[in-house]
Amino acid sequence: MALRFPESVDECLYFTNRKLEHGGSLKAWVYKKQCPECDKAVMGKPVVKGKVKIRAKEYVCPECNYTEEKIAHEETLTLEAQYNCPHCEKDGESTCAYKRKTYQGVSSYIVLCEHCGEKIPITKKMKAPKKKKAKK
Ligand SMILES: [Zn+2]
Ligand SMILES: [Zn+2]
Repeated sequence: MALRFPESVDECLYFTNRKLEHGGSLKAWVYKKQCPECDKAVMGKPVVKGKVKIRAKEYVCPECNYTEEKIAHEETLTLEAQYNCPHCEKDGESTCAYKRKTYQGVSSYIVLCEHCGEKIPITKKMKAPKKKKAKK
C-alpha cells in the first residue's frame, strides 16, 4: 500500500500526529471529499462571511452548494494511517472507515496493523476538563 501523505492539513478533515500510549507512533488523516455532484471542489463545513462554521451539522460544496449531513458524509470517508506498530514494532500503513468505535470504553478510530493484525486505536483526544464553578 502506498498512501499519500497530505501536503497540508488544509487538505484534511482530520489530522493527528501522536505518540501512542504503549509505544510506537502514528500519523493519521482523512482527506476532504471531492463533491460527488459537480466534481469541481472539495466539500467542507459551511463558510459564512469568511468564517468556517466548525459546529455545523453538514458539509457543503462551495461550488454548487451540494450538502450532505455530517454523519452520512463522514461515514463515506476513509482514514489513512502511517504508524510504528506498538505490538510488532514495524512501520506500516493501513486505512479504516472514518467512523468512531468504542475501544476499551474510549471512542476511537481503529486501524489494524498490516503486519501483525493487532488493533491500533486512535483515541479521541480528551479535552482539558472545564473548571468547575465554585459552589457556595
Ligand atoms: Zn459541488
Ligand atoms: Zn503490528
